[in-house]
Amino acid sequence: ISAMGDEQSLMSQQQKPHITVLSSPGMGHVTPLIELARRLIVDHGFQVTVLAITTDAPPAQVQLLNNPSLPSDLHVVHLPQVDVSSTDSGDGPAGVVPRLLYIVQETLRSLRSVLISLQRPLSRALIVDPFCIEALETATDLSIPTYLFLTGSASFLALTMYFPTIHAAQVGRDYSNIGDKVCIPGCKPLWLDDLVPELLIPQLLNLSNRVPVLKGVLVNTWEELEPVTLSAFKENPFFLRVPSPPTYPIGPLTKIDTEPVASTESNLLKWLEKQPPESVVYVSFGSGGTLSAEQMTELAFGLELSGKRFLWVARPPSQANASASFFETGCDDARDPASFLPDGFLDRTRELGVVTLSWAPQVAVLRHPSVAGFVTHCGWNSVLESIVHGVAMITWPLYAEQKMNATMLVDEGVAVRIKKLQVEQDGKRIAGRREIETAVRMVMEGEEGKRMRQRARELQSSAVSALSHDGLSSGCLTRLGNKWRDGG
Ligand code: UDP
Ligand code: UDP
Repeated sequence: ISAMGDEQSLMSQQQKPHITVLSSPGMGHVTPLIELARRLIVDHGFQVTVLAITTDAPPAQVQLLNNPSLPSDLHVVHLPQVDVSSTDSGDGPAGVVPRLLYIVQETLRSLRSVLISLQRPLSRALIVDPFCIEALETATDLSIPTYLFLTGSASFLALTMYFPTIHAAQVGRDYSNIGDKVCIPGCKPLWLDDLVPELLIPQLLNLSNRVPVLKGVLVNTWEELEPVTLSAFKENPFFLRVPSPPTYPIGPLTKIDTEPVASTESNLLKWLEKQPPESVVYVSFGSGGTLSAEQMTELAFGLELSGKRFLWVARPPSQANASASFFETGCDDARDPASFLPDGFLDRTRELGVVTLSWAPQVAVLRHPSVAGFVTHCGWNSVLESIVHGVAMITWPLYAEQKMNATMLVDEGVAVRIKKLQVEQDGKRIAGRREIETAVRMVMEGEEGKRMRQRARELQSSAVSALSHDGLSSGCLTRLGNKWRDGG
């Protein structure tokens, strides 16, 4: 019987059309790509191979890929580990991206042989995240159509497509002659200050130059969230003129809450159970964000002064002002939070909040009825998870395109910005305790907070309808699925 079962499953694997998905390490990319894979399998009858980059993979990624509730037609292939001894530890934004790009580049040396060796029908498509765009040439060589899954906003995609135009207009690395705004045709203007040039430029140009050669771009957004930018792609003469592939807004694809939670995580959820409805502010800076020691102190006092209940993922402070060290994520840090939080803070706030050092089950936290506000670094997945659970935000962008995301959320009326003040001695800008207190109160109490939460709930219902059976995002994915099935 078992042999027959195997035979049947082999047959069905030969028959089901096959898609391959490739993601760089890091939860912000793996999570939405896995959710895409899950939908392609469950709703559209594909089998999907996920090529996982294992070097520097955080524990949370390993856990996600081993999750027993993933569908059986999802096959995870671990790409070989690469030697990173020649790169630095990746601490701080300046180190993280080069290290990540190095890992991807070295790992992708094996891509050709891996794609050839997969014991399945040839992939109808290869879907890559932005850091894996280099896979395009290999896949094209093997006649596999390549699609980008942009794990950010449509606005960020518009910037990517417009970037060669901006780049041509500036002198060296100095973009100041552009003025303080970047006006992409048909889109809302972006603040130059929000673009973090030191992080975006080389990487963005690399991506921009390859976009025209792609067969399509999937974007983790939906019509009601970014109507202006999405119409610009369809109607604006600039986007019709530049060689650009079709764009498919298929979002918001966020992690579904089926993962087993570790015991420390379940304690956090038990604590939430005991709190009154809409009383807790959740504080987290994504899978890798850390703050300086000085900034941690201000945040601690800010939370305390607000008098609001809080659940804070407080990683030990970084050396740099604000940084990302994706590669430490999910580790159980043995350090005692009392060593880097203000004296007596944990005692004084014992009744008010909980602090965890490494990782919270974020989706379960955000969907909990006790949670009403989210102090967030505005990573796109955090933004989407907050919106789909109707939670208003306090923006605290750290790196990459997060400042753009923060501005959009404030403009949408679902978030409040914390003012950052210049610290006199060393010219650094940090958010002071009073500013933090004010922003937390604004979201958690009063009319303005109510309006923001109401707006978040409106967006939440638009997300639900975009993903419903006849919703626009579902329709987009169905069109793509049909195209791949028909071999188009
Ligand atoms: N995340 C989590 N627990 C944490 C921190 C992060 O589950 O303590 C998840 C979060 O739900 C999100 C992802 O990690 O899905 C982070 O992605 P995002 O795009 O927000 O930020 P990034 O980590 O890429 O900067
Ligand atoms: N910002 C924001 N919310 C915050 C902190 C910063 O939207 O909580 C934006 C805001 O536009 C601010 C800008 O980020 O003016 C600069 O912040 P930061 O000092 O961190 O960056 P820097 O100027 O050092 O690059």
